[in-house]
Amino acid sequence: MSMADLGGEKKSVVVIGGGVAGSLVAKTLQNEANVSLIDEKEYFEITWASLRSMVEPAFAKRSVISHSEYLPCAKIISSAAVDITDTDVLTKQGSQISYDYLVVATGHTQNGAWTKTDKISQYQAEYEKIKAANSILIVGGGPTGVELAAEIAADFPAKKVTLVHRGSRLLEFIGESASKKALNWLTSKKVEVILGQSVDVNSPSDGVYRTSDGKTVDADCHFLCIGTPFGSAWLKETILKDSLDSRGRVMVDSNLRIKGHNNIFAIGDITDVPELKQGYLAQEHAKVAAKNITSLIKGVEDDHKLAVYKPATKALAIVSLGRKDAVAQFPCLSLAGRIPGMIKSGDLFVGKTRKGLGLKPDV
Ligand SMILES: Cc1cc2nc3c(=O)[nH]c(=O)nc-3n(C[C@H](O)[C@H](O)[C@H](O)COP(=O)(O)OP(=O)(O)OC[C@H]3O[C@@H](n4cnc5c(N)ncnc54)[C@H](O)[C@@H]3O)c2cc1C
Repeated sequence: MSMADLGGEKKSVVVIGGGVAGSLVAKTLQNEANVSLIDEKEYFEITWASLRSMVEPAFAKRSVISHSEYLPCAKIISSAAVDITDTDVLTKQGSQISYDYLVVATGHTQNGAWTKTDKISQYQAEYEKIKAANSILIVGGGPTGVELAAEIAADFPAKKVTLVHRGSRLLEFIGESASKKALNWLTSKKVEVILGQSVDVNSPSDGVYRTSDGKTVDADCHFLCIGTPFGSAWLKETILKDSLDSRGRVMVDSNLRIKGHNNIFAIGDITDVPELKQGYLAQEHAKVAAKNITSLIKGVEDDHKLAVYKPATKALAIVSLGRKDAVAQFPCLSLAGRIPGMIKSGDLFVGKTRKGLGLKPDV
C-alpha cells in the first residue's frame, strides 16, 4: 500500500543522474513518492547498445529513450546538478528542488548530445564517417574499443581497422583467456591489434598517426574509446565533499547510503562498492536503494531491516563481437563464438532493458 493510499503526504525523492542506475530507481519509485529526476541529458541511453548504433543508426531509436517515456509520473529536470544542501538540490539552470530522500547516480561524465534528436544525429554522423573511410583507427582496447572494432569488422569487412591499446592485453577487466579469444576473433577478421602502445590522435599528419614506439598507422579517421572520469567532481563543492575517496568515488555503507547521511543514497558506477563497474550491477544497486527508500518512507527505523547490497565477487561479462559472436567471462571459464553471441549480440539486451523500464521491447 502506498503512502497516498494511506492518506499520507507523499515524500519527495530526488534522483540525480538518469543513467542505468538512476533511471531504474526513479521508475521504481515514481508511484510511491513525488519523484524528480535531474539529468543533464533529456534521455536515458542503453550504453551496451551504443556501438551498434554507430554502424546502424536506426538501432538508437530503441536504445535512446526520452526520460518522459518511462517516467510518466515523475518530474524531469533537464539540467546539471551543481550543489546539494541538507534539504535541496540546485541545478545549473537555477532550479532548487527539495528532497526528503536523495539518490546520487551520476556515474561517468558524458560528452555532447543533450537531446534524443541530437544523439540520433550524432550516430548518423558517426555512421557516415565510418562509411566514408577506407581505414579506421580505434584507440582503446577495453570493451568499448573491442566492441566497436568488431562491429565495423563485421558490417564493413573491406575496411582496414587498426586498434591500438596501451595495455598488454585486450579487455584487462576479465581473464587472460577471454582476452586472447577476443584478440583471435579480431585478428581473424583482419583487424590489426597493436598492444602496449599509445597514440597521439591530435597530431596525425596526412592521415598518418604515430604510436609511442614510433610505429605509424595510416587511417582516414579515428575513434577514441577510452574511459571517462567519474561524474563526481561537482560533489566537491557540496555537503558530500567529505564523502569522496581518493579516486573520487562516493563512499557508501552496505545499505547504499552515503556514510554519515541517513537520507542520501549513492548507486552505480560512482560508488566505492568493491566490484567491477558494470551496468547490470548498477541495476542491482538501484533495486536495493528503491527497496530501502520504500522502507524508510513506510517508517522503518531499525537499520537491520534495510536491504543490504552484497558486492559481486566473481567476474561475469559478455563482450559482443559483431552481430552473431561474443566472448563471455563466466566465473570459472571463458567462451567465445556463437553461444555467448546468442545471449547478447543480436538485440544487445535492448528489449530486456526496455521491459525493465516498463516499456514495449520494440517501438
Ligand atoms: C560503451 C559502453 C558499453 C558498456 N557495455 C556494458 C555491458 O555490456 N554490460 C554491462 O553490464 N555494463 C556495460 N557498460 C557499463 C555500464 O554502462 C555502466 O556500468 C552503467 O552505465 C553505470 O550506470 P550509472 O547509472 O552508474 O551511470 P551512467 O549510466 O554513467 O549515468 C550517469 C548519468 O548521470 C548524468 N549526470 C552526470 N553528472 C550529472 C550532474 N552533475 N547532474 C545531472 N546529471 C548528471 C549523466 O547525464 C548520466 O545520465 C558499458 C558502458 C559503456 C560506456
